[in-house]
Amino acid sequence: MLVRIKDLSSGPREFDLTLDQGWWRNADWDDRILGLEGTLRVRMRLYRDGENLVVQGRLSGGIRVRCDRCLSEYFHELKPGFRLFLSPPPEDVNENEIELCEEDMGIRFFTGDTCDTDEIIREQILLTLPIKTLCAEGCQGLCPRCGANLNMGRCGCREENGHPAFLKLKQLKVGST
Ligand SMILES: [Zn+2]
Ligand SMILES: [Zn+2]
Repeated sequence: MLVRIKDLSSGPREFDLTLDQGWWRNADWDDRILGLEGTLRVRMRLYRDGENLVVQGRLSGGIRVRCDRCLSEYFHELKPGFRLFLSPPPEDVNENEIELCEEDMGIRFFTGDTCDTDEIIREQILLTLPIKTLCAEGCQGLCPRCGANLNMGRCGCREENGHPAFLKLKQLKVGST
């Protein structure tokens, strides 16, 4: 949803949004999130603080995430509260420099006349993910040989690997007959 910044001059605006499962879109560079778990309820409050724009929000819901190790899906509850400060960009900076400027200075800017709440919510969701997404602390991951999910039990590969001498003996027997 786009909020016109101009509309905030008369006072804060509040929104109560319910986003359905089809709302989530992945960024090209990150496909760990598989979608929302049911609907996501978002309460937002936007207001001006002098030149700055303040966005406060509360998320209730969760997402389906893919485990980095075993590739299975799991539920990740979202951290509920967030608060963002956005500043107007300095006048001598052009569109292309804004991102660099944000990284350097650790400041967030808003550009144009509108604020995209979907974009903000999406970003907050991504921020709640750890660098490594794991379904469980001690996830066993996949067997590098057969690809079996080791959380479900042993796949049998280990036993074969453990007895190379035994395998050789078998081959010898076959050869001699
Ligand atoms: Zn896992
Ligand atoms: Zn295996």
